[in-house]
Amino acid sequence: MGNKEKLADQIRSNVALASDTEKKRKGKGTGLPKSASSSSYVAPHRHCVVCHTPISIKHEPPICGEKKCSDEWDNRERQRKRWTILLYLAPAIMVAALFLPIVLS
Ligand SMILES: [Zn+2]
Repeated sequence: MGNKEKLADQIRSNVALASDTEKKRKGKGTGLPKSASSSSYVAPHRHCVVCHTPISIKHEPPICGEKKCSDEWDNRERQRKRWTILLYLAPAIMVAALFLPIVLS
């Protein structure tokens, strides 16, 4: 019956190993220290979407104060709005093209 006991022992050690690695993975997170007292602590922040300068996390829109960055942001916003309109307009045109001959006939 020694073989059976060995197997049970093996299973027990495997379970212990699995739960150990699980604990390690959970505790790791981003790898950055969470306390402000640590020397490598990085405060929560975001970056200017244009020049990547660190800015306040609550900064809206996510750009720094530079003029070229706000210009670039305006440009992107305008482009985004155009795409949004196009996204709604394209299916509308398709539906119109599909139903107009039916309505007219
Ligand atoms: Zn910037």
